[in-house]
Amino acid sequence: MKLAIIGTGYVGLVTGACLAELGNEVTCVEIDEDKVKKLQSGSIPIHEPGLEEIVERQMAAGRLLFTTSLAAPVAQADAVFICVPTPQGADGRADMTFVESAASDIAHALCGYTVVVNKSTVPVGSAHVVEQLIRRYASPNVEVDVASNPEFLREGSAVYDFLHPDRVVVGTNSERAVGVLTDLYRPLTAPVMVVSPETAELIKYASNAFLATKVSFINAIANICDELGADVKDVALGMGYDPRIGFEFLRPGPGFGGSCFPKDCSALIAAASDRGYDFGLLRGVLEVNEAQKDVIVAKVLKALDDSLEGKRVAVWGLAFKADTDDTRDSPALAIVERLKAVGATLVAYDPAVPDRIFESQGLLRATSALEACRGADVLLVLTEWDEFRWFDLAQLSGVMAKQVIVDARNALDASHARGLGFEYVGVGR
Ligand code: NAD
Repeated sequence: MKLAIIGTGYVGLVTGACLAELGNEVTCVEIDEDKVKKLQSGSIPIHEPGLEEIVERQMAAGRLLFTTSLAAPVAQADAVFICVPTPQGADGRADMTFVESAASDIAHALCGYTVVVNKSTVPVGSAHVVEQLIRRYASPNVEVDVASNPEFLREGSAVYDFLHPDRVVVGTNSERAVGVLTDLYRPLTAPVMVVSPETAELIKYASNAFLATKVSFINAIANICDELGADVKDVALGMGYDPRIGFEFLRPGPGFGGSCFPKDCSALIAAASDRGYDFGLLRGVLEVNEAQKDVIVAKVLKALDDSLEGKRVAVWGLAFKADTDDTRDSPALAIVERLKAVGATLVAYDPAVPDRIFESQGLLRATSALEACRGADVLLVLTEWDEFRWFDLAQLSGVMAKQVIVDARNALDASHARGLGFEYVGVGR
């Protein structure tokens, strides 16, 4: 098929590259000219394992193009995918500006029969809004169907997730659009759920809200473990053997972040409230998540006798999780901010986060995990990169001013660290 992807970020670029890999002719349309120039020259603007190879291969095969002009690719496309941001607005609701502007641009360019597919995470009713905009601006002889096809990929394993989805959700009232999208996704051999657009939109929000709930739940249990002397790792394992609970997403830490969970929880709370339902459970999830950052700061303070004035903190990791360069809503950045406010000097290291993030946070960037620790009073692990997990802690002896580790991800081997003479503080263990 001929496909146009609107928005070439984490979702759009992965979607475009993977759909080209499946044999389609894909043009990615992006408003950011610098990004397009970089992509055209073969440089990938994000850190995503496996993506560069696919983009390179598909560009060479002529199946993947990048452009700033939307008209021609949309006019020729069998399906157009909207993959633009839906950030949190000031009132907690999803800001639909980008989606609406993309829909109007698409409408003006449509030609022949096209399925317009919304992959952005959008409030229930958005497919209807997109359809109305398209019907308003498209020429009257244009045939178009709108579908909601939420994306479930995780940053850090986005290529794998796109090519091996647990399910594909197609939300549309049009049989013809169902035909196009089931054909497109057939090579993935995943179950395809055909539902109404409203149901598809809610499946995405409900999934993210549930996952966020699991994280806040285990963080709350971890905090209780800290008080009671239990080990949250074993508590989570003991819970996980029950198939109704499962092992996934029961890892305590500094709280969830990223460009999805916080904003999607807020948007769902707002949507519920608009219909007169107070989603108190989910408000609690966000409250626990916010407080968890203070829990980590308190651990650092306690480890250094309640004063960080003039103390040097080595920070390992700024990304909101491992294997990504994304720091949007990263708990690491919030914690760094709070540590600076109580007088700490911070030196940070992250293998993928770009320099501009360190600069904007006023952070000294170390060239390696080891260098970050030179002269530090405490090592604070904020992202669970494998590089940190397998770091030879013996190298830190004689490098740090004090042998103290606060491991906000429970990423390190606690007994090994203690055996080397470190004071080790984890989360719930
Ligand atoms: P992103 O910010 O990484 O990328 C969006 C891109 O769209 C940007 O490059 C931006 O310049 C471009 N853009 C904006 N308006 C445009 C327009 N009119 N025409 C062309 N390009 C335009 O965002 P993302 O992380 O890829 O997320 C996109 C959507 O997918 C959001 O709704 C998000 O909630 C959802 N989502 C994200 C993830 C994830 O892990 N990042 C996973 C599932 C769903």
